[in-house]
Amino acid sequence: MHAFKLTNIDAPNNVADAGENGVGMTDKARIVIVGGGVAGIEVATSLGRGGRAAVILADRSLSHVWKPMLHTFAAGTARADRQTVDFFAQARRNGFRFQPGVLTGVDRTAKRVKLAVEAAEGRPEIDLAYDLLVLAVGSRANDFGTPGVAEHCLTIDDLSEAEHFHDQFRRHLLARLDRGGRLEIAIVGGGATGVELAAELKHAIDLLSTYGSPDLPQRLRLTLIESGPRLLPAFPDKVSRAAARTLSDLAVEVRTGAMVIAADATGFTLKDGSRISAGLKVWAAGVKAPDVLAGLDGLERSRTGQLVVGPDLRTTCDPAILALGDCAGLVDPQTGKPVPATAQAARQQAQHLARHLGRVLARGDTVASPLPPFHYVEKGAIVSLADFNGWGTLGRYTFGGGHLSGLSARLTHDLLYRQHQIGLLGPVRGTLTWLLDDLDHLISPPVKLD
Ligand SMILES: Cc1cc2nc3c(=O)[nH]c(=O)nc-3n(C[C@H](O)[C@H](O)[C@H](O)COP(=O)(O)OP(=O)(O)OC[C@H]3O[C@@H](n4cnc5c(N)ncnc54)[C@H](O)[C@@H]3O)c2cc1C
Repeated sequence: MHAFKLTNIDAPNNVADAGENGVGMTDKARIVIVGGGVAGIEVATSLGRGGRAAVILADRSLSHVWKPMLHTFAAGTARADRQTVDFFAQARRNGFRFQPGVLTGVDRTAKRVKLAVEAAEGRPEIDLAYDLLVLAVGSRANDFGTPGVAEHCLTIDDLSEAEHFHDQFRRHLLARLDRGGRLEIAIVGGGATGVELAAELKHAIDLLSTYGSPDLPQRLRLTLIESGPRLLPAFPDKVSRAAARTLSDLAVEVRTGAMVIAADATGFTLKDGSRISAGLKVWAAGVKAPDVLAGLDGLERSRTGQLVVGPDLRTTCDPAILALGDCAGLVDPQTGKPVPATAQAARQQAQHLARHLGRVLARGDTVASPLPPFHYVEKGAIVSLADFNGWGTLGRYTFGGGHLSGLSARLTHDLLYRQHQIGLLGPVRGTLTWLLDDLDHLISPPVKLD
């Protein structure tokens, strides 16, 4: 989390009213959105632009980041400072208010959401009044209580963790750049995050070997550990096999069917008793909702801690509280399957809510009015292995099925992010930002080491 200072908070229990502070519109419905990730920032931006509600977005961080890029910041192949969206500036431009703070609780009777604000004098708590509360606080990797993981493994679930990983990666590298010695890295989790991170780290090492350390790639031992029978279980078998082949060609050791039972300072112990030694250990397996949701005033939760919502995205116990994205547990009524915890699903939910809530507000109806059911449309899935390769499956209903591979898959992967960025920044600023990024790639070092 970014550290920030606030000096004008009356601690403790300072009460901030969303109506009074929400861009000066006391007669308007008060909509508080907690979590400005893929889903939350899209809803805040869209409803803020509509101008028909007093919208407050709260986040523990001061800037938005597209989470599927975190592994590139971790490897240093992309610069986070060019990719973040400042929440205060986004709020000012789009007619909503930003409130920094960490969600700590909800008082459903009084309709107030509590936030801890990091300030010069401790962590005072404030609370915001709402008519409608939208929770979009994302998810975390799930270590399933495996001993030693919390103490010895890094995760890359937010920007500060990706930056911390990068710092550790750089220290390990610098210690071995010209003095020899093996660089041992192990990643647990063969889903898209683990696979993409492995490829990105290998890409960074290849680039760094040209900095006067040509034998660095040979001294790297990079292991990807997956408990299931194959990598990328959410993709077709053909994609899993191609990804495993590409990683093997890149000298990444892929261990499938390998169950980690413990982590310690020097590596992982597997169920069969064998060891994988690693100085740098990453846990990128499983998904669970943030722990704070467990204490939210009796709201129903799924097995992995998500807030259970109905097709209208309202929580089952309280229609004034909605949940979106990774922290929402929704079973699609059409397919009977859980909506996946992906950026694609988070964006679709955000767009659905923003569109229909916007219409409700435009008609002058209250925020308690019924919302049409959300249906998840599988538009396919894409995985990109740095500059090496990429694969995608196209949604059966939207594109008639089919596959992408190589450059087209990598470009499509990039395009998803750019669509999100242009949606947030508008066509002119979004396109200029994209252009500047491409120019920056031409003039900046290919791997960040500073
Ligand atoms: C490395 C990596 C690669 C990925 N690649 C892909 C991919 O290629 N394709 C894909 O579809 N998905 C991918 N995902 C998954 C995707 O990023 C998530 O599904 C998506 O970000 C979920 O969006 P969200 O809005 O629910 O949550 P997030 O985008 O995670 O946003 C949550 C927000 O809530 C804030 N927050 C969290 N806790 C609190 C709190 N207590 N108080 C206040 N604020 C809080 C956070 O700061 C953040 O801004 C990837 C994930 C990772 C980690």
